Amino acid sequence: MTDATALPGQPRGAVASGPATARAVNVLAPNPSAMTLDGTNTWIVAEPDSALAVVIDPGPLDDAHLRAVIDAVERGGRRVGLTLLTHGHPDHAEGAGRFAELTGTRVRALDAALRLGDEGLGAGDVITTGGLELRVVPTPGHTADSLSFHLPADRAVLTGDTILGRGTTVVAHPDGRLGDYLDSLRRLRSLTVDDGVHTVLPGHGPVLEDAQGAVEFYLAHRAHRLAQVETAVEAGHRTPSEVVAAVYADVDRSLWPAAELSVRAQLEYLAEHGLI
Ligand SMILES: [Zn+2]
Repeated sequence: MTDATALPGQPRGAVASGPATARAVNVLAPNPSAMTLDGTNTWIVAEPDSALAVVIDPGPLDDAHLRAVIDAVERGGRRVGLTLLTHGHPDHAEGAGRFAELTGTRVRALDAALRLGDEGLGAGDVITTGGLELRVVPTPGHTADSLSFHLPADRAVLTGDTILGRGTTVVAHPDGRLGDYLDSLRRLRSLTVDDGVHTVLPGHGPVLEDAQGAVEFYLAHRAHRLAQVETAVEAGHRTPSEVVAAVYADVDRSLWPAAELSVRAQLEYLAEHGLI
């Protein structure tokens, strides 16, 4: 399971290519599935009067999609100045190398293996391409290399797969760890409470205009699932697949392999905290 993302839990909403905030435009990739919802959101972010745009998550290796992203940038009278990755899952990152080739840009990511060029990306970094201000926020948990990007001018945050436009995300054990994920959600909550962020621009699914509500929903959902897993273990369910069958009975079976990754992450967390 590498394209890990969505599990049910939130109302359905519409998603489409087009402007989302003053500085962010979505180009929806043609890779819809149970795990990627409507497809991957490739974000183009730019200052209104700038000739340079930043592209976040070029998406799958699909030439028509990559060219559609470039067309959208050029229709705005700009060219691509920099490519960023929220994390290395192929539905976000697989097309990055080809996109960099088509645009002559560098790719910056937390994971050195995904970079093109010598610049990394990490906590405290601020992207300033074309006068834009994007602050790098480490949000490990879905994967170890997950990052979010705070766009203060639009009071928005680009969350990759850390928060989705609907449903909940997978903690992709063993790379993803639940303790990290909960810390990341709290970090995002502080962006909404202390920094006035109110819009989530997710890696899949529709834009969320109540960022704090979304974070609170995710934290409550994780606490609820964790309690269910703990109860299932106390009831005698021992293996991850037994726990999945007990806890994720309300989820379509096609998503159980993804749910099992989250269950493994939850069992690890409970064991580390001496709770089972
Ligand atoms: Zn992912």
